[in-house]
Amino acid sequence: MELNELTIHELQKKLRAGDTSSTEIVQAVFKRIEAVEPRINAYITLMKDVALADALKADEAVKKGDIRALTGIPIALKDIFCTKGFRTTCGSRILENFIPPYDATIVEKLRQAGAIFTGKTNMDEFAMGSSTETSFFGTTKNPWDLNRIPGGSSGGSAAAVAADECIASLGSDTGGSIRQPAALCGVVGMKPTYGRVSRFGLIAFASSLDQIGPFTKDVEDCAILMNGIAGYDPKESTSIPQDVPDYRSFLSRGIDGWTVGIPKEYFIEGIDAEVSEAVQKAIKCVEGLGAKTMEISLPHTKYCLAVYYIIAPAEASSNLARYDGVKYGYRSPDGQDLLDMYKKSRSEGFGAEVKRRIMLGTYALSSGYYDAYYKKASQVRALIKRDFDDAFKTCDIILTPTTPTPAFNVGEKTGDPLQMYLSDILTISTNLAGIPGISVPCGFTKGGLPVGVQFLAGHLEEGKLLQIAAAYEKNANLEKRRPNL
Ligand code: GLN
Repeated sequence: MELNELTIHELQKKLRAGDTSSTEIVQAVFKRIEAVEPRINAYITLMKDVALADALKADEAVKKGDIRALTGIPIALKDIFCTKGFRTTCGSRILENFIPPYDATIVEKLRQAGAIFTGKTNMDEFAMGSSTETSFFGTTKNPWDLNRIPGGSSGGSAAAVAADECIASLGSDTGGSIRQPAALCGVVGMKPTYGRVSRFGLIAFASSLDQIGPFTKDVEDCAILMNGIAGYDPKESTSIPQDVPDYRSFLSRGIDGWTVGIPKEYFIEGIDAEVSEAVQKAIKCVEGLGAKTMEISLPHTKYCLAVYYIIAPAEASSNLARYDGVKYGYRSPDGQDLLDMYKKSRSEGFGAEVKRRIMLGTYALSSGYYDAYYKKASQVRALIKRDFDDAFKTCDIILTPTTPTPAFNVGEKTGDPLQMYLSDILTISTNLAGIPGISVPCGFTKGGLPVGVQFLAGHLEEGKLLQIAAAYEKNANLEKRRPNL
């Protein structure tokens, strides 16, 4: 196996034993990037020179015995995280040449832990989308089938891990943008509890929903990255001031005696038969590990999509008001006066989906409509959250499919926003409730496309998610496959 195909924990063992160097690992990753990137387009910006220089420093540190949790490991960052001195576009023309003057907290934390950054990954513009097709920098392709989308909005981060163009990556999840692409690309993806990971330096989409999390090749790597990024940050007022457990300590505990809830509203019409079959096998596997499964109900599920598509655009319309061509970002050269400059900069700088969301959101927040839309949606959101609180009184974990279908074709849903929005029907409730969720590979369709199973847990119970995900992964007996590129 090539070095770039290994996991964080495998590489760490080799580094510690002196069997390889960070320079060799980074070189292997860039060799792979050069070979497959023209077909995948997972990255917007590559950081090869810095990565190689950082690898030399990591090798020096290892020689001195300074080995940290992520020393020498190449990690890719979604292009929504501010990186000091490196272009951060958010997939948009309006930020095409934006170079942040500071690092996001998670970037700082990963660097502290010894990580090396390979580059900034492709994404739907401002994280609005489920296919990475709204990116100003072109669509990312699914490594398992280049005619298909990788999911979104963190499609580049998912594809880069699946194609071994990095060892692991980070993304953000507002309605499913980590878990959905993880499922469609056959990797592990976790959205932590709202507030578990600092969002300082994350470009905001919908502030009451956004959360940062890892994409990895296995569950152990997910725990390692969670150890690296979780925790309170005085610079971020919504981050939770609570200690972070060692997430690795959950991996081998097993789930004997647990109760796993299967929400009947998530096994509905419209779920692809092969997805359903793979998830049913996952249920059997979990039962074989000593867990009891029971049907549960989350009765307000039917309102999730509607609630999300009021709250998220409303918050986006407010967050995106800052892109006016004045302080930073794209400015139209043709503005006749201030108002005209605003109008032209925004009209030329934003793509169609972002404009659609700004219009929807501005409408929902406008005077006379606020109570009918945003306020009402917030009230229903409280009911959705209560569904989960009630469910977790009777079960430890909830299990669902991650996505209704496997990866769809490029262009298949771009003409119909509602069809695109339905891709997140099984992931959105988690963000509305603020709870953590993880997607783990659970098999392949006959056509060779990956399928994911989603586990959900109560507030701050990422440890439990990793516990069941690790037990499942170890015992699922899934065929080991790699995309044929
Ligand atoms: N696909 C959903 C949307 O378009 C979720 C995106 C996300 O999680 N960032 O809003």
